[in-house]
Amino acid sequence: MPLNRILEQPRARRILESMVTGERLPHALLFWGPPGVGKSASAIELARWLNCHQELEGPCGQCESCVKMATLEHPHFSYQMPLPRKALADADTGELSQSGAEELTEILRAKGADLYANAKFTAAQFILIGQIRSLIRWANVKSFSQKPRIALIDHADALKEEAGNALLKLLEEPPPEFILILTAETPEDVLPTLLSRCQPVEFDRLSDSIIDNELEKRGIQDVDTRKRLAHLSSGNLTRAIDFASKPETMEELMALGIDIVRHSLGKNPLQLNPHLESWNALTADQRTLVLEIITAWLRDAALLSAWGETSLPRLIHTDRIELLRKFVTNCPRADFTEAARQIETARFNIERNVLPPLVFTNLARNIYRTIYATEPV
Ligand SMILES: [Zn+2]
Repeated sequence: MPLNRILEQPRARRILESMVTGERLPHALLFWGPPGVGKSASAIELARWLNCHQELEGPCGQCESCVKMATLEHPHFSYQMPLPRKALADADTGELSQSGAEELTEILRAKGADLYANAKFTAAQFILIGQIRSLIRWANVKSFSQKPRIALIDHADALKEEAGNALLKLLEEPPPEFILILTAETPEDVLPTLLSRCQPVEFDRLSDSIIDNELEKRGIQDVDTRKRLAHLSSGNLTRAIDFASKPETMEELMALGIDIVRHSLGKNPLQLNPHLESWNALTADQRTLVLEIITAWLRDAALLSAWGETSLPRLIHTDRIELLRKFVTNCPRADFTEAARQIETARFNIERNVLPPLVFTNLARNIYRTIYATEPV
């Protein structure tokens, strides 16, 4: 298979491979699907293949071009991602500041070393107009090579109107041998004028087993830890790698998630202030993970209360099995499955920017109500 560094994604790979072999590659592609499943990795691999000197069925991995592309140092590849304003020395031309250039080098080095690593600037919000201007200059420089130049705009939802319009001009009159690849979670995240010029390629979430496998390749020896991370990362390998590299943070988030459940069932369930402070300090990704931890805890409780000890191989929180047993024993008539379902409401509210204190009070009330079948007072 030509794009053999891409994990799973048989449909997307088939489409890309037939585009390349049939010489029907469009000027602009939109790779869309859940985060952390290989959209940017696929853009890199496609660029590698198209620039390979060997012209085989896929990138050879050996030639000078393949090696440079793998470390993201190839002159025919431009990786654009949301930046904080301070990363630019000149907002108009898009020239990077020294600290911006240093952080970018570090991000690209990590991404080159691991195709599924997180490529994200700290405190980044938007893809800035200066970046697009600089990209347009790069795309229009005369090339002596017949190979195409590929620009990746990762997180195209971060393109605001001004930058989007500048990019649109590039798509209306694309330079020869130039391909633009956008990534987004859904097509609706992309400005409609850009979307109509892109050929969409859909990506799917990865399976737990491939994530488990990939974590093992990255040195996570403990089977239970891998299983837990694979489950909690919801098919997002980038997130799983990220959390695996920070076991202490992971442990804190686990403790926080389980504490929230226990507190919801304690004396003052609607009084969540101590957790609220910790919560406010979390990134969006970490908040999602805490909710996954709570859902998994309640799901474990449902399995343990229904199947007893035979459910052990299917549980996620095996590292806290004693606490889980006690939890189940203390709530003999609880509907844990329904309680787990209630977490969805919290997720829904968080995505819609409902104020954290309100999310928390509702979450506590819902957990209390479904577990005790009565209202908290
Ligand atoms: Zn090659």
